[in-house]
Amino acid sequence: MENHHYYKYEQIEKISKSVIYYYRNLRNDITLPIDVEFIIEHILNLKLLWNPIKGSDGEVILAMVTPTKTQIQMNSDQMQMFDSVPNLERTVLSHEIGHFILHKLEITNPGHSYKRSIAKSNDPLEREAHQFAACLLLPRDYLLDFIRLNSKKIDFNGWGTIYFLAQSFGVTKTMLMLRLKEIGILSRTITGEFISQTGHNYGQLLV
Ligand SMILES: [Zn+2]
Repeated sequence: MENHHYYKYEQIEKISKSVIYYYRNLRNDITLPIDVEFIIEHILNLKLLWNPIKGSDGEVILAMVTPTKTQIQMNSDQMQMFDSVPNLERTVLSHEIGHFILHKLEITNPGHSYKRSIAKSNDPLEREAHQFAACLLLPRDYLLDFIRLNSKKIDFNGWGTIYFLAQSFGVTKTMLMLRLKEIGILSRTITGEFISQTGHNYGQLLV
């Protein structure tokens, strides 16, 4: 997109942190997972609607954000997909929040749609929205505290730790591993394999 203001990862994390700051104050708790719908309705004052959304050219649309109408629409025709993929709904909602906060001025009517093929997208707006979603659902402080408090259960020596963390924070395995890499808990080889500090090799992610 022309004239797009690119955000650095640290900037995106900082913005997500201010949302979490309000969240923490309003909720007065640090219960996991982060309640995304609460953020949409009570912090950003956006309408959250479930409507049928028709895609063109066989493209499946999961959701749409329309800043001029201060609304996020979820595609009710895709209810089955949301029900069958764990945490997909939370991921999509957080991604749309990212667009609303970061790209409000760039999104015109009827809105910006979340397509099924988004994981393969190289569009910087999509990348930024996804980074925002990861920072929002996996706040650095919450994640580090949680790992410290559950150190008996968490060893990063196998998939058990990954599933436990992904389930606790309500995120996909992919989102969790990429966030752990940004925080420095996992490292990544030139060939894209994720390695823990204890030397466990999780291999490459299949997105
Ligand atoms: Zn998007």
